[in-house]
Amino acid sequence: MTPPYAVPETGAAVKAADRAHVFHSWSAQAVIDPLAVAGAEGSYFWDYDGKRYLDFSSQLVNTNIGHQHPKVVAAIQEQAGKLCTFAPGFAIDVRSEAARLVARATPGDLDKIFFTNGGAEAVENAVRMARLHTGRHKVLSAYRSYHGATAAAINLTGDPRRWPSDTASAGVVHFWGPYLYRSAFHAETEEQEAERALAHLEQLIAFEGPQSIAAIILETIPGTAGILIPPAGYLAGVREICDRHGIVFILDEVMAGFGRTGKWFAADHWEVIPDLLTFAKGVNSGYVPLGGVAISPAIAETFATRPYPGGLTYSGHPLACASAVATINAMREEGIVENAATIGDTVIGPALREIAERHKCVGEVRGLGVFWALDLVKDKATREPLVPYNAAGAANTPMAEFAAACKAEGLWPFVNMNRTHVVPPCTVSEAEVKEGLAALDEALSVADAHTVG
Ligand code: PMP
Repeated sequence: MTPPYAVPETGAAVKAADRAHVFHSWSAQAVIDPLAVAGAEGSYFWDYDGKRYLDFSSQLVNTNIGHQHPKVVAAIQEQAGKLCTFAPGFAIDVRSEAARLVARATPGDLDKIFFTNGGAEAVENAVRMARLHTGRHKVLSAYRSYHGATAAAINLTGDPRRWPSDTASAGVVHFWGPYLYRSAFHAETEEQEAERALAHLEQLIAFEGPQSIAAIILETIPGTAGILIPPAGYLAGVREICDRHGIVFILDEVMAGFGRTGKWFAADHWEVIPDLLTFAKGVNSGYVPLGGVAISPAIAETFATRPYPGGLTYSGHPLACASAVATINAMREEGIVENAATIGDTVIGPALREIAERHKCVGEVRGLGVFWALDLVKDKATREPLVPYNAAGAANTPMAEFAAACKAEGLWPFVNMNRTHVVPPCTVSEAEVKEGLAALDEALSVADAHTVG
């Protein structure tokens, strides 16, 4: 039977069709040369020539449950046969079940869930809730952060992706979070870093005026900024500062949440409970777009009789919610969060530390669970990054060569500035991790050639 639509026969035809009409994110349209992907399963995907890649990127740190998990695929198919779409404002069984499961997984008493289509919309709505709850306007966020690409979310983002869209950033104030390896505070120990980062935040609040500050938003573990594990006491300190000044504490767990760090949420490592928690990605591994905000009782109460002025046509979309229900249940049934913790502790962490000793280009290794980064340097002694901050074009050559070497080895890395991240699905096996790390080890020799000393 001939299908009633045009089926491209080769990767070249898929690429030609893409080039004709797809406008890509974050890319110069004439320069981007996307790989044509034919399929994916578990920790792998493959192209039209049958070349297979081990997905050490989890597709923007997203597919925590791996590609094409059969239980999630079946749940979407089943829901599609029942009810594909329905507007918010109606009670839908699968929507309430997804909300219940998310509320149960999130820390503490965050028991009400506002659904969005992704991370940036979750951040937009969390900020709006905080502003309305406090009656204040300013929001503080860290320089080393990414919060999304919509209006408020890109302003809150600290990294250079903010710069071209920075004109509307009234009310957003950035501060330095902890990062001992490149300390903004000249700290030499974790204790000093935590103490000085908190003192810096206190001082900034004093000069901005606490009565004008609605919220502090932080990635629990800044992800694309290089997996910056906060030192002990830092997050508890921010919680205390927020409480003292009546500031809403928002933790952005879009990337770190839902098992990625070997616990359901990264906040669980430090037992910190925010007032609002944003999530997306791992909630359903992006099989259908979904994100949201988990809300404390006090903030939910603000909107008990006063309407919440915000909404989205697809909020709590039935197909997305069905995939979230199946994902969360499968993660519990199959011990997927525990797998991430064990693989991180026993395989990835020790192997990366050993790799770091052998390679001149690896300055520092950081991570938890299946959430790791290598901070690549030109010189271990000075810690000068392998490529300059926000390097483009020729200045980025060492990282581009490194990424190409990974791909030649059948490993798909997640590379950002001078970092390469090791972020496979939470379902990854020990054998797969070993295969990927062997390829990474080889590819790092390419980066070594760009070091000095
Ligand atoms: N917050 C964080 C911490 C993220 O990592 C991301 C995406 N990488 C976002 C927000 C934005 O999510 P989305 O791309 O789904 O809008």
